Amino acid sequence: MQTLRASKCGLSTAQLPSSILDVIDSLTKAGYEAYIVGGGVRDLMLGQSPKDYDAVTNATPSQVKEVFGRRCRIIGRRFELAHVYSGRELIEVATFRAPPKKAITSAAGMILRDNNWGTIEQDFSRRDFSINALYYQPRKGIVLDFCNAVDDIKSKTLRLLGDPALRFEEDPVRMLRTLRFAAKLNFNIDPAILEVFTLEMTQLLRDVSPHRLYDESQKLFTMGHLSQVMPMLIDFDIWQQLFADLKTEITPFMARAAKNTDQRIQIGKTINPAFFYAVLLWENFLRRCDFYQAKGVVAAEARAQAGLDVLKRQATRTIIPRFAETFIREVWEMQTRLLNPKPQQIEALSGHARFRAGFDFLLLREKSGDPSTQGMGAWWEAYQTMSTDEKERAISSYNRQRAKNRRKVTTEEPVESKVSAQIEPLVKEAETRSRRSRKAPVEEKKSLTNVVSHQTDSIHPDHPILKRKRVQRDLSNVIFGPTQ
Ligand code: ATP
Ligand code: MG
Repeated sequence: MQTLRASKCGLSTAQLPSSILDVIDSLTKAGYEAYIVGGGVRDLMLGQSPKDYDAVTNATPSQVKEVFGRRCRIIGRRFELAHVYSGRELIEVATFRAPPKKAITSAAGMILRDNNWGTIEQDFSRRDFSINALYYQPRKGIVLDFCNAVDDIKSKTLRLLGDPALRFEEDPVRMLRTLRFAAKLNFNIDPAILEVFTLEMTQLLRDVSPHRLYDESQKLFTMGHLSQVMPMLIDFDIWQQLFADLKTEITPFMARAAKNTDQRIQIGKTINPAFFYAVLLWENFLRRCDFYQAKGVVAAEARAQAGLDVLKRQATRTIIPRFAETFIREVWEMQTRLLNPKPQQIEALSGHARFRAGFDFLLLREKSGDPSTQGMGAWWEAYQTMSTDEKERAISSYNRQRAKNRRKVTTEEPVESKVSAQIEPLVKEAETRSRRSRKAPVEEKKSLTNVVSHQTDSIHPDHPILKRKRVQRDLSNVIFGPTQ
């Protein structure tokens, strides 16, 4: 173990926010050891600004709670931690951990519970990469380096502590972390890691909880280097473990959306990770819509059901929280509304809560060469910058064009004599769904039963529809299309 002077590593307390200093000081004052560890130290040493700071201490979570009282919450079961609120910041405070006991690992070697407290020496060897295992005590002005991590920082090498195969087996999420840090820091992956990073190893990710994988996928999407990490996910066979039924290729739309996401992060704009899920699963959604339409289901109904199906399928890999599910389905539904808006609804649509996301999605599709947007991305882009008069003129010219097109097409929707300017909900929530279904005429119910029975011979045998009763019930509650 080497003790380095913090100043020699380019670290000083002046770089640190008061929140982390407050946590370190309070723990020290209460008689405990406390260090900054992980990404905070690593990023500062690399001259980058850390996303957040993590602390580690010899105080157990309940002792941390005693120190901070109501500002502290103990979280996690598999991996117990204290969350300490300092001002508006949240600092994660972990307790030194010893190696896990044999009895609490799975047959495949995965650690199921990891709350065995230990010493700082034991804690360091439990961390993932050498560069994440530097312990910085800002008040003493020292950095403890147990594994020549400073050399790895200098040579830009991502090295796992211990035997890489064992470390991946213990926690397969470390494979995702490898790619994330390699892309984010532009580090080389140690050849010893590359050697064990096999397809077989990545299959262990199937045993990881979909909740944890969703969290990790969010970190991948929001670290600002999505463009770099996406091809890596494919090269390292992670892609097919994370995303259900997704072709292993990066479409021009995905590439464009990834670049756009990275740029937004760079200029400090917020991003919703669910947006990128909407991008990734868009083609699956369209394919599923075609599937239902080929069965004779009307377009709006097909979209509603396709959205539910695709997200349910994805949830077998990464959980999709309810709010994200609604967001994604709304963005998809917005595509139809924005492509063929009813003239009376144009202004209301542009003020809709989901307009921004739906429009960004449409424009990204258009700019990545998707001809099916029919130039409406550019139309809406221009519309938003217009004065009221210009908007009126744009709407009437759009209206004339639309009428012309309609005359050409024979199989058209019924003439809208009295279309309300109000927008109907983009997707109907579960509650609305069940209420509607109770009132749904027998005719509708019958046609849906047909859809279900038709499908059974062509759906993939793994499909949850065939396995879960609950899904079947959902099918009988199909939402009727908001646009037709
Ligand atoms: P980020 O910049 O994304 O916050 P980080 O390295 O701080 O990167 P965290 O997920 O915040 O990552 O974790 C904090 C520290 O906890 C890591 O630096 C590492 O030392 C340890 N750690 C986190 N996850 C694991 C894991 N799966 N296995 C071993 N150690 C881990
Ligand atoms: Mg961190």
